[in-house]
Amino acid sequence: MKVYKFGGASINSIERIKNTGKIIAEEAPEKLLLVVSAMGKTTNALEKVVEAFYEGRNEDALKLFEQVKENHLKTLKFLMVVGWKQAEDQLKDFFTEIEWMLHDKPVRSFDYYYDQVVCCGELLSTAMVSHYLNEQKVKIKWIDVRDILRTDNNFRDAAIDWAFTETKIRSVVLPFFEEYDVVITQGFIGSTDENESTTLGREGSDFTAAIFANLLPAESVTIWKDVDAVMSADPRLHPNATIIPALSFTEVIEMAYYGAQVIHPKTIKPLQNKDIPLFVKSFLNPSLPGTTISRKLSKNLPPIIVDKASQVLIQFKSKDFSFVEDKPVQQLHELFKQVRIQPNLSQHTAISLLCCFDDKGEKIDQLAADASVIFDVELERNLLLLTVRHYDAETINTLTANKQIVLEQKTQETVQLVLRAG
Ligand code: ASP
Ligand code: MG
Repeated sequence: MKVYKFGGASINSIERIKNTGKIIAEEAPEKLLLVVSAMGKTTNALEKVVEAFYEGRNEDALKLFEQVKENHLKTLKFLMVVGWKQAEDQLKDFFTEIEWMLHDKPVRSFDYYYDQVVCCGELLSTAMVSHYLNEQKVKIKWIDVRDILRTDNNFRDAAIDWAFTETKIRSVVLPFFEEYDVVITQGFIGSTDENESTTLGREGSDFTAAIFANLLPAESVTIWKDVDAVMSADPRLHPNATIIPALSFTEVIEMAYYGAQVIHPKTIKPLQNKDIPLFVKSFLNPSLPGTTISRKLSKNLPPIIVDKASQVLIQFKSKDFSFVEDKPVQQLHELFKQVRIQPNLSQHTAISLLCCFDDKGEKIDQLAADASVIFDVELERNLLLLTVRHYDAETINTLTANKQIVLEQKTQETVQLVLRAG
C-alpha cells in the first residue's frame, strides 16, 4: 500500500484535478491512501472568513464565504458529467454547517472558530475529487478524517492522540481496502473527543500523510508538488540552484527546521520511525525521478541555502547589568508563547539575548513592548536570515557580497547569517 499526498496547487483548476485524477487512476488497482489539501488558496480565503466573523462583521463573513462556495460549485459543474447532483448535495451539507455558525456571535476563542471554519476547505476538495474519481471508475471511498484522527483541543496546532488514531485506522480504514482500491481523506484536520474540528498548523497535510503511513502498512509516501524535485535553494532567488536526487531524513529535518519550505517539519519523524521512504515528485511531470528521502545518508550534497526575508533582530538586554539568567530568559520564552512567535535563531551574551524572528508586524511590536518591562529592548527590521548547510567559502562570499553581516552562527555543517543590505 502507498500513501499519496496532493497539495492545493495540484487541484486548483479543472485541468489540474483531471491531471491528478490520471496519476491516481494509474496507480489503482494498487491500494492507495490519498491525502488531499484544500483547493488552491482556499485556506487563505477561509482565514479571511473567520477574521470577519470574529470581528463581528457577519455580513462580510457570509459574503466572503459565498465566494468560496461559488468557486467550488463552479469547478464541480465543469468537472462532473452524471454524478454532479449527488456531489453538490455533499458540498452543500458542508456549506450549511459553516453558514449556520457564521450567523452566530463568537463566544469562544478565535482559534476555536478558525478550526471550525477552515476545516471545510479540505472537506470540500476531497469530496469533489472523490466524486470525480468515482465517475472515472476508480473504486474509491471518501472518509471524514475527523472520525479517525483524534487530537487534543489545542486549536490551530493540535497534537495527535496516536493510540486512538491507530485503533481507528486499524478498525475503520484498513477494512475499506477489501472493497476499494483508493481511500481518500483530508489532510491538515482532525477532531477532539467532543467532535470539535481541529487543525494541525498551516501546511499540515504532509504531516497527515505521514501519520497514515506510520499507522498503516505503507511501503512509501509520495508528496506530489508543482516542482520537479527538492532543490538546493529557491531557484527564483538563486539561479544556480540544483536538483537534489536523494536526501536523508536527517538532512530534511534539518532543512525544514531552518525554514526550507520543502515539507512540513513534523512529517519526517513518523516516517523515519518506521523507515518509510518519502518521494517528492512533480504532478506536472510525473515521469521525472524527483527526490527520494530515506534513511540512507546523503553524500556529496551541494551547499543548501535557505532564505528567510523580512527578519527582525531583537536584542533583549539586562537593565541593571546583571547576567541574563534562567528566570528572565524563562519569562521571555513565556512571552514568545503568548504571542505565538518563535525565534529563528538566538544567541546569548553575558548580559543580553539576541533573537531573530519573522517580522510579524504587530506581534513583534507587542513582544517588544511586553519584554521592555524586564529588559532594555532594541530592534532592527528589514534583515535577511540565510542558512547554508554544507557551506564552502565561495558560496558564503557570493551570498554576502554587498551585504553587512549583523550576526553569524557556525557549526561544522551549518552557517547562519543575519544580513543587512549593504
Ligand atoms: N490547506 C492547508 C494550508 O493551506 C493545509 C495544507 O495545504 O497542507 O495550510
Ligand atoms: Mg500546501
